[in-house]
Amino acid sequence: MRKLIRGGTVVAGSGILESDILIDGGAIAGIGDFRALRVGAPEADLEIIDAQGCIVVPGGVDAHTHICFPLKGFISNDDYWSGTCSAVAGGTTTIAVFLPPPPSGESLADALHKARESGDAEALADYCFQQTLADASDATLAAIRALVAEGYPGFKVFLGSDTAMSDFNALRIMRTLKDCGGQLLVNGGNPGMERFVTEAFSAEERASLANYGRNRPELIEAEGLSRAAFLARLAGIPIYAVHVSSALALAEIGKARAEGCDITAETCPHYLILSEEKYAAGGAEALKFTLNPPLRSRLNFEPLWKGLADGALDIVASDHCPFNIIGQKDQASSDFMRIPNGLPGIEPRLPLLYSEGVRGHRLSLRRFVEVTSTNPAKYLRLYPRKGEIAIGSDADLVLIDPEAKGLFSRSTLHQRNDYTPYEGIERQGAIRMTLIRGSIVYEAGRGIVGRKGQGRYLPRFPASGR
Ligand SMILES: [Zn+2]
Repeated sequence: MRKLIRGGTVVAGSGILESDILIDGGAIAGIGDFRALRVGAPEADLEIIDAQGCIVVPGGVDAHTHICFPLKGFISNDDYWSGTCSAVAGGTTTIAVFLPPPPSGESLADALHKARESGDAEALADYCFQQTLADASDATLAAIRALVAEGYPGFKVFLGSDTAMSDFNALRIMRTLKDCGGQLLVNGGNPGMERFVTEAFSAEERASLANYGRNRPELIEAEGLSRAAFLARLAGIPIYAVHVSSALALAEIGKARAEGCDITAETCPHYLILSEEKYAAGGAEALKFTLNPPLRSRLNFEPLWKGLADGALDIVASDHCPFNIIGQKDQASSDFMRIPNGLPGIEPRLPLLYSEGVRGHRLSLRRFVEVTSTNPAKYLRLYPRKGEIAIGSDADLVLIDPEAKGLFSRSTLHQRNDYTPYEGIERQGAIRMTLIRGSIVYEAGRGIVGRKGQGRYLPRFPASGR
């Protein structure tokens, strides 16, 4: 059946216009004035969706999420079904899922194919993968080449933390990805600096969450990303910097770009509106905000917002990685280094950015769409199928009611875990409806109306490829 979204304010690549959108066969078939089309007309096969008063944007693309992710002996709560229900209720229609390095004995290809089976069976939103690497053996490099050819181009390395890769190994991976047309994502860090900082804390100090924010100083993140940029220039490959949290790291990215390094920079909603003050009280309240990098000083808010507005930052991703307070984070709170780090955020991402960004006069409506949908779709090689309202694009569309007001609350979210870090924060605007490839999957008042397995896996080839 064809659908007509009638009368919204449409944020299209061609501009912001009062327009109808005609959907046919799951794709956008027309943008313009379709008042002449009526239900019951000769071509009666038409459902009309009233979007009067709403803003219509392309479905959100969340470039960084974790589903059933193993970390420090725990597994993050959301599976493909609950994670993607949460995504679509928050206006996100495509997610990139970060997979951990496979357990020993399992190949990269096996791990990806297994994850694909879970996604195909359960996902409501469309999805693709980014694979984390823990080594640069000849076998791994050969597997990377084969997987890029198969449509899995994205690989992430850690330059710090427990799975830190040496500069030499990171360079081997960079050269391989450059040769075969893959993409490298980098988690900045520095094992020596991290060990130096961690060892300075006594066991007693590591048991107090009031110290949590000091376990990964901004200097370590900034050094890691700066070094990553030098390595990337040596290897001649672009890089993607995940979860940039500080003005200092952003300044290093700016320097590297000025010297010719091609860097795509991502930040997350929590670094834009939550600060290290959340750790001050310690205890269960501070546990809600344990992640890496940790929340920073509020002095970083303005530079990060400005960076999003002016292009120093390209993408806002959730880095959704939800662990419960009770039974997970609290089991490891006697040593903050053992806490499974990560925050839930897949559902509030778009509403927060709209409320704090657009309505807070920090981002234009067009820029809001760029950083939450268009730019991640371009990076993921899914544009213009995703991330755009244009004829021929998938009809992944979100209706935002700009006048609805509310509070973020765990009780209204679709995630599985037991809290939201945004509890009680006021919100201007709400998701009224989400469509994926022309099907309504979420509607305010009705809730989730899609079904398990409706989401599609999205292979990703270079634009010049297949
Ligand atoms: Zn992550």
